[in-house]
Amino acid sequence: MDALIIGGGIAGLVAARHLTEAGSRVTLLEARNRLGGRIYTHCSGDFPVELGAEFIHGRPDEILSLTAEGAIRIMPVQGHFKRKINGEWAEAGHLMEKVDQLFSRLPKKEPDESFQYYLDRSGEDDDVKQQALRYVEGFHAADPSLISARSLRRDSEAEEAIDGDHQYRIARGYESLVRAVADRIDRGLCDIVMNTPVNEIAWRQGEVIASAGSTEYLASRAIVTLPLGVLKSGSVAFSPGLPEKQNAMSFLEMGPVIRVSLCFQEKFWEHDPKIADLSFLFTDDQQFPTWWTSNPLPYPILTGWAAGPNAKTHSGRSKDQIVTSAVQSLARIMKIEGPELRRHITESFVHDWQADPFSRGAYSYTAVGGMDAAKKLAETVVDTLYFAGEATNGDGYNGTVHGAIASGLRAAKELLQSLQNSKRKQA
Ligand SMILES: Cc1cc2nc3c(=O)[nH]c(=O)nc-3n(C[C@H](O)[C@H](O)[C@H](O)COP(=O)(O)OP(=O)(O)OC[C@H]3O[C@@H](n4cnc5c(N)ncnc54)[C@H](O)[C@@H]3O)c2cc1C
Repeated sequence: MDALIIGGGIAGLVAARHLTEAGSRVTLLEARNRLGGRIYTHCSGDFPVELGAEFIHGRPDEILSLTAEGAIRIMPVQGHFKRKINGEWAEAGHLMEKVDQLFSRLPKKEPDESFQYYLDRSGEDDDVKQQALRYVEGFHAADPSLISARSLRRDSEAEEAIDGDHQYRIARGYESLVRAVADRIDRGLCDIVMNTPVNEIAWRQGEVIASAGSTEYLASRAIVTLPLGVLKSGSVAFSPGLPEKQNAMSFLEMGPVIRVSLCFQEKFWEHDPKIADLSFLFTDDQQFPTWWTSNPLPYPILTGWAAGPNAKTHSGRSKDQIVTSAVQSLARIMKIEGPELRRHITESFVHDWQADPFSRGAYSYTAVGGMDAAKKLAETVVDTLYFAGEATNGDGYNGTVHGAIASGLRAAKELLQSLQNSKRKQA
C-alpha cells in the first residue's frame, strides 16, 4: 500500500483522487458514516440546508475548476447587507468599507500583536471598532485578544487576490462538491473505510501503522488530514510523538461556531420593505448577532450565526436550548412575538461542531506570533508523514474549503514526489 489517508473531508478526498489518478494505491480511513467532514448538507424536502460550510469565498480556482468539471451550478450571493444596532435599521455597506480600510492598515511586519490591541490603539470611531470586532469574531470565529493582527492582514490580502468580496453558494448544496470529488476517485486503487476512528498513528521512516481499535492499517506513507481541534485534543496519539507539530499548534487556535438554520413556511421577511431583499444582517444581539437569508436561492431559510466568544455562551447547551435561544434572538431583532415566529417554523437544524469529537471546533485561526505555524504544521516528517487540512494552509486560506482543497493537493504532490524519488533510487 502506497499511502494511508486519515480523514475523508475535502482535503483527504482531493488527496485520494490525485494519488489514484497517478496510479498509487491508497486506503482512506474516515471516522464518520459519511464523507465531507465539515462540509455537511442536510437535504430537507425540496432544498438543501447547510450545517457546515455554505459559501464559496471569492473565485478560488480550487473550487471553480471542480464546479466546472462537475457542471455544478453556483449562484452569487445577492441582496442588501443591513445592520440593526440599538434597535435602528441601517445599510451596512458604508461601515464595512471603513472596516476594509482599517484592515488594509494592519501591520505587515514584526512585531505582531493581537487584533484587540491593534484596534484599541487605532483611534477609529467606536462604531467602526464595533463592526470590526463583530467581523473578526463572526467571520474568523476568533477571539480578538488572541488572533494575530499580521495574520489578518495576510488573510485579507489573500482574499483580495481571489476577489474575496464576492460570495457564492452551490445551488444544490456544498455536498455536491464532495460527491464530485469522491466520484472521481479510482475505487480500484482506493479503499474507503468508513466508521473507522483512528486512535493511534505509529510510524518510522518508510512505515506507518494506523490503528482504529484493534484493527491496524499499514502503508509506507500517510497523509494526515485531521482537523486542528482533533490534533490538539490528543485523541489520536502519534508514536513517537511530534514535538515540532505540538509547538506549531500552540500558535493555532480552533474557532468555535454555532449556526442554527430555521426553515419557514414562506419568506415572511419579504413582506417587510425594510428587509425584503435581505442578504446579511449584523446586529448587537448577544446570542445570535449575525443572520442571513439564502438570497437569491428561493429557500425559506434564515440562518443564525454565533462565532468566537459569542459561540462560547452556547457551550454545553442542548440542541433544543440552542434553537430556543436562536428563535428568541430573531424575535427580538424582528420585533415579532416568539410564539408567533415559532408557528411559521417548519424545521430547525443545528450541529455543535465544538462537541463533535471529529472536528472539535469549526475552523482554525492564527494566534499572535504564529505567522509560520501553519507552514510548520504542514511540513513533511522524514518522507513518511504528510499533513493536510485547512489548518495547514499557510497562504492565508486556512479556515476555508478552498484552503483545505489546496492543502490536500499539496500533500498528495509531496507524497508522489517522494514515491518517485524512492523508486528512482531502487532502479
Ligand atoms: C459551521 C461551519 C461553517 C463554515 N463555513 C464555511 C464557508 O462558508 N466557506 C468556507 O470556505 N469554509 C467554511 N467552513 C470551513 C470549511 O468547512 C473547512 O475549512 C473545510 O471543510 C475543512 O476541510 P478538511 O478536509 O480540512 O477538514 P474536515 O472536513 O474536518 O475533514 C477531516 C475529516 O477527518 C475525519 N476525522 C476526524 N477524526 C478522525 C479520526 N480519529 N479518524 C479518522 N477520521 C477522522 C473527520 O470526520 C473529517 O471527515 C465552515 C466550517 C464550519 C464548521
